[in-house]
Amino acid sequence: MIAKQTKDEIIIVGAGIGGLTLARALEKKGVNFQLYEQANSFEALGYGIQLSPNVVRVFEELGLLKQLEKVSHPCLGFELRSFKADNVLATWQLDSPTPYYQCRRADLHQILFNSLEDKSRTHFSQRLESYEQKEEHLCLHWENGNPITTKALVAADGVRSQVRRSLFPEYEAKYAGYAAYRAILPFQDKYSPLWGKTTVWMGKNHHVVVYPNGKDKDSTAWLNLVLVVKDKRWSQQGWTIRTDKDKVAKEFSNRSALLNDILKDMVASAEPCFKWGLFIHEPLPYWSKGNVTLLGDAAHPMLPFQAQGAAMAIEDAYLLVQCLDRANNIEKAFIDYQDARMQRTTKVQQVSRNNAGIFHAAGIKATVRNFVLAVVSMINPSLFNKKSAWIYDYDPTVDLEYL
Ligand SMILES: Cc1cc2nc3c(=O)[nH]c(=O)nc-3n(C[C@H](O)[C@H](O)[C@H](O)COP(=O)(O)OP(=O)(O)OC[C@H]3O[C@@H](n4cnc5c(N)ncnc54)[C@H](O)[C@@H]3O)c2cc1C
Repeated sequence: MIAKQTKDEIIIVGAGIGGLTLARALEKKGVNFQLYEQANSFEALGYGIQLSPNVVRVFEELGLLKQLEKVSHPCLGFELRSFKADNVLATWQLDSPTPYYQCRRADLHQILFNSLEDKSRTHFSQRLESYEQKEEHLCLHWENGNPITTKALVAADGVRSQVRRSLFPEYEAKYAGYAAYRAILPFQDKYSPLWGKTTVWMGKNHHVVVYPNGKDKDSTAWLNLVLVVKDKRWSQQGWTIRTDKDKVAKEFSNRSALLNDILKDMVASAEPCFKWGLFIHEPLPYWSKGNVTLLGDAAHPMLPFQAQGAAMAIEDAYLLVQCLDRANNIEKAFIDYQDARMQRTTKVQQVSRNNAGIFHAAGIKATVRNFVLAVVSMINPSLFNKKSAWIYDYDPTVDLEYL
């Protein structure tokens, strides 16, 4: 492990899911690092998250599976329904021996942060403004505070990454034309048909994803709601932009008595509903330059329509540490990491984008989609698992073939 031998510190910018996973993986290997986050705490964390088997394997390897299990709800399968008619289009059970979990983002952050033995390495209220190369070192400049010199920088600072902007000013993240509304509700008995799975209503310009969060079907469980609408008007991006719940309920009301009930409950609930504009950019030509590299959404932002953005950030973090472990200098490790990750993440970005077309299909396209779903569902639903096997069955903890 190069950084361990030289006692160099790796600076991570951004304590999102990617940055925190990287911190945990580095600490486990005994590598020096410092983690800088612009926010002053982890408070506003945008509700639920789905964690597919490919990342649950990383949590197991990082020694965090039990903690994750405690706060998660296992998803056993998927149900796709028509937004317009509310009939079931397809339903299938997952077949992986590794669980697919659903939990609250806040819990996930807490698990990762609590796992760090030395919390003094995490610095809140530190916003990176810019950096400059000074011979072999990098000099990092902060909005408040003195510049810091480091040998290596990992930018895990999300879709609006400051570091990515410096490396690629021409790849500015652009509004993708979709707004996502997010809400949670205490889980009630009447939501029982939604227990144990992810349910998706798909329709022209709209789709809705609901899944339970929390371990038990009791007062500690929640129903997580993601409502996506195609919307040309530019939306802001951020976990804390509150929206008018009545307007959202009106926009998404449909034929389903259950969904309409959920929307009514959302309006009546004390919990806010947040609006999130979805931002992406084209795949970057590279992520690593000298002793700087990008990770997670900073490198490959994607539409959340395959629920893999955080998953890819977690895989990135785990494999980056494996590359640091094997290479004899940081530049080589960063290049190895990029080579190990770019193809897979670009493919997942593409699939997520394609799903937008499938979920929001209309007219003849929707008729064909519904027919195919019905036939596969009836004849061989395991084909749905086969289709996503390259994502879910992938095991980052054994995939070191590139290194
Ligand atoms: C509606 C929706 C649903 C989703 N559902 C899922 C899902 O179910 N499963 C899944 O895998 N993914 C999902 N995703 C995607 C997932 O949320 C993101 O891909 C993931 O959060 C990316 O993690 P990250 O650590 O790379 O970036 P972020 O989570 O964006 O973290 C970046 C961090 O860097 C900090 N930061 C930014 N700039 C600076 C700076 N200059 N200096 C210091 N700190 C800075 C930020 O404050 C933040 O804490 C969803 C996304 C959306 C929008």
